[in-house]
Amino acid sequence: MTDPLLSVRDLRVRFEGESGEVRAVDGVSFDLDAGETLCLVGESGSGKTVTCEALTRLVPADLDGEIRFGGRNLLDCSETELREVRGSSVAHIFQNPQGALDPVYSVGDQLREGVERNRDVTGEEAREVAIDLLDRVGIPEAAARYDDYPHEFSGGMKQRVVIALALSGDPDLLVADEPTTALDVTIQAQILDLLRDLQAERDVGVLFVTHDLGVAAQVADRIVVMYAGKVMERGGVSAIFDSPGHPYTRALMRCLPGVGSALDPIPGDPIDPTDPPEGCRFHPRCTAAVRACESGDQPPLRDADPSDDAGDSGDADHCVSCVFYGPDYDRADLASSVPLAGVQTEGDDD
Ligand code: SF4
Repeated sequence: MTDPLLSVRDLRVRFEGESGEVRAVDGVSFDLDAGETLCLVGESGSGKTVTCEALTRLVPADLDGEIRFGGRNLLDCSETELREVRGSSVAHIFQNPQGALDPVYSVGDQLREGVERNRDVTGEEAREVAIDLLDRVGIPEAAARYDDYPHEFSGGMKQRVVIALALSGDPDLLVADEPTTALDVTIQAQILDLLRDLQAERDVGVLFVTHDLGVAAQVADRIVVMYAGKVMERGGVSAIFDSPGHPYTRALMRCLPGVGSALDPIPGDPIDPTDPPEGCRFHPRCTAAVRACESGDQPPLRDADPSDDAGDSGDADHCVSCVFYGPDYDRADLASSVPLAGVQTEGDDD
């Protein structure tokens, strides 16, 4: 059994906000294999983006835990070592392509600079690699567009350039934070296809952040559902969509357009990150909450089906943080208060 490409254990990220200490990420663990897409999903403020930025210490905060990548704990690396990791082994794709590109340099020059910084090539050879990258991400007439500036590209084309920039270091891990949020549905589908093709071609691992479970259903191999800095549920895409265990996951699914009879928003507001509630962090909004949910720690992540190794969902990694998965409750009781909602995933037949 090979080691995962990325292994995150008990990651905690804290920083000082205007109203006190913010525990943005509080004990998050997951693994990501080469060639796999792992989606972090959840509402705004769930800690998805901070988790991604913490991987290469892009976030100015106190970090604890372990981030194993390339045989070392990135939290123990010096700033010089981290600079080598960023952009080469681990590349980030951010949601705003406009902000990721320098408006005063041509896209070709920006790409060539990335290639020269991360690969052992310079000059004309680096230019050829840059043009090849533009071509690979689907920029028509790539050589002719080399000297164009970012403002001469559409939003979708700019995001393709940003992906080319991320690939300039030939990374092993792509961290894509809501890379299609600013794009219309057609361009979004094209970018998701492009990421899938590039992943298959290069066997990179992709950590994909989205608030949109519909997008996660299209791209994910496995999913981590986050709420208020904690992992609520984790498992393969089929397990999560066919047998969602956590009331929060089920509530997110009912919010999806086309699922159930109508849009069904989650009641209440996300918690104040400077003053998280005792017990399960979701309890103020949970329709299934019982007294035990209001005290102690977040329930541990438990096997979604301990009766066999693979579980009902056929997924041994499927686990849920909810008291109803503990010894004192019957998870079947969840069904009456938190109904399921079906979502079509990429692998499902029509
Ligand atoms: S632990 Fe309680 S509050 Fe949390 S999801 Fe389960 S039932 Fe709801």
